[in-house]
Amino acid sequence: MNILFATAEAVPFCKTGGLGDVCGSLPRELAKLGHQPTVILPAFRHVFDSGAEIEPTGVTFQIPIGQKMVQGQFLRSQLPGSDVPVYFVEQPEYFDRPELYGEEGEEYRDNCERFTFFSRAVLEAVVSLDLGTDILHCHDWCAGLIPAYLKTLYRDRAPFDQIASLYTIHNLAYQGNFWHWDMVLTGIDWKHFNWRQMEFYGNLSFMKSGIAFADAVSTVSPTYAREIMRPPLSCGLEGALQHRREELFGILNGADYGDWNPATDSFLGENTYDVETFEIGKPACKAALQAEMGLPVNADIPLLAAVGRLADQKGFDLIARVMQQWAKQSDAQWVILGTGDPKYHQVFGQMAEEFPQKIAVRLEFSNELAHRIEAGADMFLMPSQYEPCGLNQLYSLKYGTVPVVRSTGGLADTVVDATPQSIAEGTATGFTFGEYTSLAFSDAISRACGLYASKPAWLQLIKTGMQQDWSWRRSAQEYAELYQRTCAHARQEVLS
Ligand code: ADP
Repeated sequence: MNILFATAEAVPFCKTGGLGDVCGSLPRELAKLGHQPTVILPAFRHVFDSGAEIEPTGVTFQIPIGQKMVQGQFLRSQLPGSDVPVYFVEQPEYFDRPELYGEEGEEYRDNCERFTFFSRAVLEAVVSLDLGTDILHCHDWCAGLIPAYLKTLYRDRAPFDQIASLYTIHNLAYQGNFWHWDMVLTGIDWKHFNWRQMEFYGNLSFMKSGIAFADAVSTVSPTYAREIMRPPLSCGLEGALQHRREELFGILNGADYGDWNPATDSFLGENTYDVETFEIGKPACKAALQAEMGLPVNADIPLLAAVGRLADQKGFDLIARVMQQWAKQSDAQWVILGTGDPKYHQVFGQMAEEFPQKIAVRLEFSNELAHRIEAGADMFLMPSQYEPCGLNQLYSLKYGTVPVVRSTGGLADTVVDATPQSIAEGTATGFTFGEYTSLAFSDAISRACGLYASKPAWLQLIKTGMQQDWSWRRSAQEYAELYQRTCAHARQEVLS
């Protein structure tokens, strides 16, 4: 099957979060299953800074944006370690900017125009690059208009009348909602600006358009697929989602074990390890991490870590509160790596100054350090308010770093709480808690630290976690089945 991934992020070209990981990994895995994936993304400045080899295709095009025609051209590269072609939509005025979506907490004001252009350029690519697409797999709000175009402006035109669409929601909270007059930029008839299709509380919504028009909708875990049907996680879109409930699927993301494997991780130097050797390798990684972070090197003190966007969604307010309490009364060490909301930069920066022997903070984006933290920490903290899938808990399991997570979305689907029963059965892989309170989170950490002190049970927990298979192979198989099903349904719809 020939699948075109339309996305704003794909590793190694550009990434702000899990979306980039998914769109860099899933196509490669689909290719291994015998499919023909292609990826297309905007030629952001990050893409050129990524060091990837990028060449022109010589294909230029023009897109109507409102009253004007805007020119662009397609560039080409490949996903590393594969034959998967990657195309870039080059339009420097829109995409040659320091960031992908906005700067200093402000979205770029012309985001509607930028991603309208991108969406139509994707459809242009299908024809002018002769991609032979069977299904367009559109990701998140940036590509939400594409299913709408397929069902409106491009509906009766070959080859678009034969192309199905799957719309994947990676995070429903980022919706791409714009001033209603921006409808004019899209060229789509105003009749579609209605509450069932593109209109959302008086605005034009890219997310809602994707949900309404795609042949099928998916999200990145079965639990999140259920959670977004109801407030508060529906973010106002419960009606639109319930309307599509028969075509709404939850497929868990995978971890890219090519990048995230403690046995082959080049960022760990000599200290690589696997499920047989972790009792030697992991303490070495822990000592190295403690030294790197300026913490006392001590094998017996539990080391708890968090890596991620410093956003409310990720539960950093709970981490801050619990860390503050614990730092006053226990030896535990804490490592935080992240960038994001300035208020968290301030809070964590202050705490690191107050407790230099216990708390180490790096307010930056560092892939290398993220790897060394996954390897060196004893526990990994993810007290998220919501978590569509989450990747770090999957990496943590693989690295034998016990996840302590709030039971929501993909976290609920991938971490088995250590209860007396699950410990006895050998199925426990981490610690979960339900209520979003610092008390519940702190209790889960206490349970984790309790088990940490009883070594055989702790080692078993690590081992069970490391033996889990959260690879992309499993997810890719599920996506392949969903593509088949979606194309078959779309064809039936055309016939009926
Ligand atoms: P989200 O997409 O919501 O940000 P995910 O857990 O799905 O969360 O994916 C986050 C990815 O980004 C992980 O690969 C994580 O390691 C990485 N990441 C986030 N912040 C940082 C950072 N400051 N430094 C290095 N990697 C980071």
